[in-house]
Amino acid sequence: MKTDLQIAQENVMEPISKIVEKAHIDPKYVEYYGSTKAKINNDLMQELQDKKDGKLILVTAINPTKAGEGKSTTTVGLVDGLSLIGKNVMGCLREPSLGPVFGLKGGATGGGYAQVVPMEDINLHFTGDMHAITTTNNLVSAVLDNSIYQGNELNIDPTKVIWKRCLDMNDRTLRSITIAQDKPTNGVERKDSFCITVATEVMAVLCLSKDLKDFEERINRCIVAYTYDDQPVTIKDLKVGGALAVVMKEAIKPNLVQTLQKTPVLIHGGPFANIAHGCNSVIATKMALKLADYVVTEAGFGADLGAEKFLDIKCRVAELKPNAIVVVATIRALKLHGGVSADELGNENVEAMLKGIENLEKHIDTVKQFGVPILVAINKFTKDTDAEVAALEKWCEEKGVLVSLSDAWAKGGEGTIDLAKKVVACCDEESHYAPIYDVNDSIENKVLTITQKVYGGKGVVFSDEAKVQIEKLKQLGFEHLPICMAKTPMSLTDDPKIMGRPSGFDIHVNEVKVSAGAGFIVVFTGSIMTMPGLPKVPAALGMGVDENGDSYGIF
Ligand code: ADP
Repeated sequence: MKTDLQIAQENVMEPISKIVEKAHIDPKYVEYYGSTKAKINNDLMQELQDKKDGKLILVTAINPTKAGEGKSTTTVGLVDGLSLIGKNVMGCLREPSLGPVFGLKGGATGGGYAQVVPMEDINLHFTGDMHAITTTNNLVSAVLDNSIYQGNELNIDPTKVIWKRCLDMNDRTLRSITIAQDKPTNGVERKDSFCITVATEVMAVLCLSKDLKDFEERINRCIVAYTYDDQPVTIKDLKVGGALAVVMKEAIKPNLVQTLQKTPVLIHGGPFANIAHGCNSVIATKMALKLADYVVTEAGFGADLGAEKFLDIKCRVAELKPNAIVVVATIRALKLHGGVSADELGNENVEAMLKGIENLEKHIDTVKQFGVPILVAINKFTKDTDAEVAALEKWCEEKGVLVSLSDAWAKGGEGTIDLAKKVVACCDEESHYAPIYDVNDSIENKVLTITQKVYGGKGVVFSDEAKVQIEKLKQLGFEHLPICMAKTPMSLTDDPKIMGRPSGFDIHVNEVKVSAGAGFIVVFTGSIMTMPGLPKVPAALGMGVDENGDSYGIF
């Protein structure tokens, strides 16, 4: 069996200029990055402002296994399926982070015959956006610590700096560090910490901004520290917003690439969905909606995380109205939710799968509450048996939910024709999209609403520290912002080990902080951390470059 990388390397790409043509983009808005990648200038939007938006389709999933359940694979396959049935379609994906690439999970360019290419470039340095975001973030840190060192005009309390340094890498050793040690000329010594680039507020700001001007305004609002008398210090106070806009000048433009089947895809911005809001940029989504009749996008992890934030944060902020939601389920993950151990998932077990279906049922119920037409895509694995697939299809039919067996991984667009037709049918229905909570409600109530309606839990336990932080945010006037939950993706609860569809549980909130630039409140639950660690055997250990100069071992 060929690896994702081999399939991608064997594929002959169209020059990106052909994809530009296919997407009906005026070449004057295109900046080429070699022959297979391009950035699209946002000025294009002025020309297209009177054009009607296409239909927006979100791909989400059940609570996944550690390997992922094939959302990107299904998204890319669906883009190609829609293209094959004659639709003018564009995909909208997130940029991969190097953390998972070298860690455990792999890339974010799809899999098998449903991939975006050039997959190595996209998964590694791509067009440099991650570098720009990392630099932007760390420029703030450098200027902030310099301000403390150079006389501390802003009266910053070094123990109350909340802006973290960042790196696009899984490195647990940087979670808690001490900076400026040894000599006074190294600066003012203080405790500090790193987060992964995709969890930074800069990434969130990029993904929620309308344009570079909006980016600068938002980034200026970010709170970086508090003074000795507990007043917030912002990036505006550091007077560095202009420089940050300079660093992000190119990164603000969406990147155009193609699928293996030569369908246009925009890839832009990539926050994780467990520790951040999990959706590609608003700029890319809005641009795609002007360029195509159907836009397929995805939000990270399961519907409890990515989809909830897509619907409650991104769509609310960007005034988007999704037309259909595809919930991806795999037989193997359903068996895991039904109690089967990870090493037995390859064996037929209809009974366990039917038990684990309760997890899918919860996500279907959740998505329905947002009022958007829904369908289930079964991402087909070779080990799935006919009996298992038939039982899942029958359950969906009895529940009255459209279902389609997607063979995107093995066949690309050919494997998603039925799914594509059903998605079109869903898009023809009326969408009654509405966010699940009232943004003007209290922070506590918003978190409770998400816990009850999206996770299926009972209550929320706020730590003493979180209670103090909530009071402070109320005083500062940040109460009426959307909520960005930071929670494990593996379970509906905040405990990654609890499978299925648990009920009666509480969510434990440890920390609450405002991302004033992004415009949401981040609520940390369980033991979630913003700097992941590497597993015992990281994926990086199996990678290299062969005698022909081709890389191997990247998935
Ligand atoms: P997600 O977006 O849900 O995280 P991905 O689409 O990135 O998941 O898929 C994760 C990995 O699983 C990829 O390496 C992909 O090749 C593999 N994969 C996805 N679907 C299938 C399938 N049907 N059969 C075999 N492998 C698959």
